[in-house]
Amino acid sequence: MSTNRTFTMIKPDGVANGHIGAIINDITAAGFKIIALKYTKLTSEKAGEFYAVHSARPFYNDLVSFMSSGPIVAAILEKDNAIEDFRTLIGATNPAEAAKGTIRQKYAKSIDANAVHGSDSDENAQIEGDFFFTADERF
Ligand code: ADP
Ligand code: MG
Repeated sequence: MSTNRTFTMIKPDGVANGHIGAIINDITAAGFKIIALKYTKLTSEKAGEFYAVHSARPFYNDLVSFMSSGPIVAAILEKDNAIEDFRTLIGATNPAEAAKGTIRQKYAKSIDANAVHGSDSDENAQIEGDFFFTADERF
């Protein structure tokens, strides 16, 4: 299905390693328009809520603690075919398997600290964007 909005986060490792500017540049150079943007930090409670869908996975507790370990950048992005094109731009979950030139291949070091999040469906993009942004924070 072709969708026109997705949600992303630059994860704590991407921020801590100094990649905010480079990642946002790659995103806009790929044709995504920024609809909403925020520099913030998740509490462990909020990180647990955001990743509740993964609560049965063995890495859930580590994921929640990692995602609340430092500041992140959250954004809503717009582009034709946004969900699929953004997943292509960021590459595979495991940066070791991510295609050359993708954001995870360039800026991530491990499967857990993999620099960026990208929504996996239109429905989740809506839910995740609503998690971070009110209506008057979108332009
Ligand atoms: P993606 O972010 O590519 O959509 P998933 O939704 O499967 O990947 O997983 C969510 C996040 O959980 C990943 O981005 C990564 O930070 C973490 N994660 C996924 N698989 C593992 C794993 N096997 N070990 C540790 N962390 C993982
Ligand atoms: Mg996912």
